Amino acid sequence: MEASEAPLARPRQPDTACRSALVVRYDEIGLKGGNRSMFERRLLENLRAALRGTPGLELHRIRGRALVRAAVPAEELTAPAARVFGVSSLSPARELGHDLEEIEAAATTLVEELLERRFPGAGEVPFRVTVNRATPRFRRSSMETERLLGARLLERFPRLRVRLKEPALQVELDIRDEGAFLFADRIPGPGGLPVGSLGRALCLLSGGIDSPVAAWLTMKRGVRVEFVSFYSFPYVGPQLKEKLQRLAERLAGWQPVSVLHVVPFTDYQVAIRDHADPRYRTVLYRRAMQRIASRIARRRKAQALVTGESIGQVASQTLENLALIEEASSLPVLRPLVTYDKRETVELARRIGTFEISNLPAPDCCTVFQPERPVIHGRLEEALEAESRLDLQALTEDAVRRTERIRFPESP
Ligand code: ATP
Ligand code: MG
Repeated sequence: MEASEAPLARPRQPDTACRSALVVRYDEIGLKGGNRSMFERRLLENLRAALRGTPGLELHRIRGRALVRAAVPAEELTAPAARVFGVSSLSPARELGHDLEEIEAAATTLVEELLERRFPGAGEVPFRVTVNRATPRFRRSSMETERLLGARLLERFPRLRVRLKEPALQVELDIRDEGAFLFADRIPGPGGLPVGSLGRALCLLSGGIDSPVAAWLTMKRGVRVEFVSFYSFPYVGPQLKEKLQRLAERLAGWQPVSVLHVVPFTDYQVAIRDHADPRYRTVLYRRAMQRIASRIARRRKAQALVTGESIGQVASQTLENLALIEEASSLPVLRPLVTYDKRETVELARRIGTFEISNLPAPDCCTVFQPERPVIHGRLEEALEAESRLDLQALTEDAVRRTERIRFPESP
């Protein structure tokens, strides 16, 4: 996508009211040497997807930043843009020309509004002006511009007091070839790398608290994540499926496109129940999940599986059992939460908006036919022996064949 070459929606009028634009900063991408422009292109594409439907949307690359213009105030774009990985911070800005008078007038209006809205009363307000000039087309230096603008604002608003460190009000001006961008806020972005710049993985998404967080952490590292859920209808009811869809939809707010694969798991579980030592049921369910997920992952060109497992969280998550379960996967298994405490996971789940959904009541398929004492230090030979009594290939193929695929957003 040639985002940076998109034409301007309308030509600039020399002295109309200033336009609103969103200045988007990214930092880690800047470290990637030769790959930098690939990462930048991906970031722009993902921003465009996050903002789809916005009237008059235009995206541009300007010297180490992205610039978003639209026919709506930039403030309306900050929430969706702040869910694009790779973004370090965002500033809704007023887009101006290089004319100092015009800049002074806009800065005066901005400060007037902010004083009224954020600092009511007559108290002093510690403030500074910060200018970042990166074009020779604007002749004054950054420092000189800071002084001129600062002096003008101090004169106009007697409540302002210059304070260079930790001012309560900071007026910033970025001067680029394209124009000057005036703003007062830096809204933090999620950081990380643009989704899709580092491949694809398939996350085993249960209705629990952990796996959605594991998926999110994987996306944050630039990996596009699809989801697979094992669904044992009618032993678990439609409320679980609905919950899974809601989780996938919530996570879809963090990447351009999401796909949820819902695998009918009942037949596999019944076969395990009928043929294996009850103590091994949970481990064998988990091995079956890895086997089916690996198949779906290969079809979908995903290069790894992701789970929400962490050490010692439940009886089945001992190092022995993790190894025993992973043995059934033909792809690397990523476990972003492996060292997390539950408290840390819950905190993150709240922040990314999956916690309330995970907390809705719905039974999990692993509790179907659950034994009283699941094995804690499982042995591979025992698992393999039990599996030798099952037709793994037929069970796996049948489950994959009957898998339902749901896409978010629904239409391309
Ligand atoms: P979660 O909160 O993610 O369910 P958990 O701590 O409850 O995690 P388990 O229920 O033991 O842990 O599951 C471990 C991992 O196995 C999950 O994080 C998830 O990745 C995967 N998993 C478990 N059940 C399912 C399922 N029904 N569908 C898809 N994946 C599952
Ligand atoms: Mg669970």
